Parts: sequence; C-alpha cells; structure tokens
Amino acid sequence: MIRFYSTNGMAPEVGLAAALLQGQAPDRGLYLPRPLPVLRSGLLRRAFDLAYPELAAEVLWPYVEGTFAREVLDEICADAYTYEVPLERVSGRAHVMRLDQGPTASFKDFAARFMGRALGRLVREQGRELLILTATSGDTGSAVASAFLGVPGIRVLILFPIREVSDRQRKQMTTLGGNVATLALDGKFDHCQALVKRAFADPELADLNLSSANSINIGRLLPQSVYYLWAASRLTDVGGGERIVVSVPSGNFGNMMGGMLAWHAGLPIARMVIATNANDEVPRFLSTGRYQMIEPSRECISNAMNVGHPSNLARLVDLYGGWMDETGAVRRAPDIGGLRRDLFGVSIDDEATRATIERVWKVHRVLLEPHGAVGWAGLERFWGRHPEHRDTPAVSLETAHPAKFPEEVRALTGVEPVVPPSLQGLDARPESYRPIANSYEDFKSLLQKEYA
Ligand SMILES: *Cc1c(COP(=O)(O)O)cnc(C)c1O
Repeated sequence: MIRFYSTNGMAPEVGLAAALLQGQAPDRGLYLPRPLPVLRSGLLRRAFDLAYPELAAEVLWPYVEGTFAREVLDEICADAYTYEVPLERVSGRAHVMRLDQGPTASFKDFAARFMGRALGRLVREQGRELLILTATSGDTGSAVASAFLGVPGIRVLILFPIREVSDRQRKQMTTLGGNVATLALDGKFDHCQALVKRAFADPELADLNLSSANSINIGRLLPQSVYYLWAASRLTDVGGGERIVVSVPSGNFGNMMGGMLAWHAGLPIARMVIATNANDEVPRFLSTGRYQMIEPSRECISNAMNVGHPSNLARLVDLYGGWMDETGAVRRAPDIGGLRRDLFGVSIDDEATRATIERVWKVHRVLLEPHGAVGWAGLERFWGRHPEHRDTPAVSLETAHPAKFPEEVRALTGVEPVVPPSLQGLDARPESYRPIANSYEDFKSLLQKEYA
C-alpha cells in the first residue's frame, strides 16, 4: 500500500487520510508517495476510451486504496469532474489543453473539487471539525472556496494579497459567505504563504485542527496528474509508448509536480517545459545548480505565478535524490544532470507574454490569457533550442479562462472573451473581506479569537 513520507525525513510515514488532514508534515516537510504507483500498460492502452471521471478514478485508485472504497472514489470523481477538458490544436501536432472549464475557471478546480469531497468524507467519518487555511495568488482561493462551500464540519479561511489579485478573482472568493471567510493581506502572495505555513507549525494552534488546501497538501497534486495522461492519450499512441512534450506555466510548481508524478509512474513524456514569468528562480536553479529565492517576488500580469519561493521545489529536489528544507536551503544536492535532462526551464517576461497572446490569436486564432501564454511561449523557446522536437506531439496547459483577464486580452486581440456562466453576475454580489497587516502576531490572535 502507498504511504506518504516527509521530504524532511523526520516525521513518520502516514496514510492518505492523515496526509490530507494534516497538509504539511509535522517536521515541516512535504508529503510524497512511496512507492510511486505504476501506470500499467493496460491503462495506458485503455485511457483513450475512458471518460475523464473514469480516467481520474483509475489514476487515483492506487493512492486512495485503503482510505476509500473504490465505489466512493468513483462517486467523488463523477461528482467532481462534470466539465469538459478540451484540447485545441494550435499548429502541427501542438495543442493547448484548456483546464479552465470548471466552476471557477482555472485548473485549480481539478484538485480543489477532489479535495473538498475527499476531506468532507474524512471529516464526517472522524467526527471532527477542520479549518482549512489557504494562501492564494488569485485562483486557489476561489477554487477552494467553491469546492468547500457548504461542506459540513469544514471552515475555510483564505488569505490573499490585496493588490495582486484581479477584481474578478477577488469577487470569486469574497462573495460566497457561509463557511468561507477571506483576509486581504497588505503584502504579497509569498507573505500569505509564509503566515499560513507558520500557523501550521505553531504548537499553540494545534487545537484548531488546521489543514491546507495549498499545494503543500499532497491532495492538490494527485488529481493534477490525471490530465497529463488525458492529453497524452488523446494526442499520441500512449499505449504504444509514443512520447509527448508538455509545457507547464508554473508558479508554486504544484501543477508541474502532478505531471512529474505521472511521468515517474510511467507516462511517456519526452521533456517537460517549465515556464515561469519574471520570477525565474527555478529556471535559474536548473541552469546554475544554485537556488536563490526572489524576495520580494516580481509582479507580472500572470499574477497567479508571482511566486518567489515555490513550495513544491522541495518535492522536486527530493524526487531527484536531494533535500531542500522548509527555508529553501539545499541540504543535499539533487541529481542536477537528471533534472536538466527531464526539464527545460524558461522565463517569459510580460512583454513576451503580451506578444504571444497577440500573435497566437492573429496567426492561429487561438485565444490565450497571460498564464497560458507563458506556457506557449515556453514551448516555442524549447523548439528553438531543440528543433528535433518540432514534430513531437506537444501540449501546453492553459490554466485559466481568458475572461478572467478581460482587459489584457481585449487590448491585445480586440476580442471580448465570452464570460462563462461561473463568472457571470459577480459584479452585483456583495463582498465581504477583512484587511490584515503582514504580521504573524495579528494573524495568530485572529485565529485564536475567532476559530478556537
Ligand atoms: C496557480 C496558477 C498557476 C501556477 O500553478 P502552480 O501549480 O502554482 O505552479 C498558473 N496559472 C494559473 C491560472 C494559476 O491559477
């Protein structure tokens, strides 16, 4: 059976239920599965014939076995994945996969909807209350709020950087009410993330039963491995071992880690492009072998990727034999050669992001938003360096709906993105959020006063 170990190596291995409920390991490390499951060749061959919820249940079953019955997992997936996962051809054998068709119009819905349902069941079975703390750079907050809204036994508190989320992103989290509350932090996403992480590690807050719906929670990564197989099975002869290039616009690198888990489980990936905005600490790490976080993080139009110290780097380093602790210090060097062989790191600035949105619309009539444009531009840079891959099947992930960034998209393409039903009517709804300073003491006393 699969267990979950901490990247810091000083906490006991746990089952899936404990990993989901705790979020972060008690030694401040991040959980990873051991052993990694194997994507069987039978599943790779059958994948094309499965609907998305069926494929999700197949991929997730090895992780879930022992925690939920198979029927329960089937039910969770059928209930969570009720929307399309379209692949749109851009040119040649290269596609974008639109992961933006869920209820909050970003790829965060895939994981949040699984977690909301899984945690809801665990809380019911165990009869204890849970407080989900979530830091968001824009899209996690709304996905988590939507997925956990009204789940009995769970309260949700979301921290977002007041000046770094768009109006629509903010309204998606602040207009729900019920068991969802929001704090507007006078600071950056990294500060939100740091406060949340510190609260988890604070023994004086242990009574609050805190958990995380950030990608420090392994529950975020597992569902994010499914759509890599979905794309490969639709675009290649995955059962025959044909390989695919994937490009992942990345901030906290949870999406990339989902793909990594699938890859290491046997999905035939030729190369993974990891495309960041100007927060290029990971591409730099790949090229120099030295890790230097960016503090403060740089503000870019792909705002959900404004991350100067990505949590999931510790997992990536672990997967390649190294050890990065919770402060970002590399305590044992990973196999940097292996990382360079598998990953192609690239940083795309705002100017190139805008030029990509404009050009891809003009030339291919495919509408991108800033995050997806970073991914696509990253893929093009990869082709520039590796022309031998120009005809390898490729997929670039479009992680948000263009209607989340209407001003930018309109200015660059002249197109008014069609607003999906999930984003309609937001403007009229009353908002409720509380401002908070970037101070752990303030945050902690609020938690103790309101949630103890
Ligand atoms: C969160 C987010 C990203 C970055 O994903 P990570 O898993 O943090 O790397 C990219 N695009 C959008 C639209 C997002 O919301």
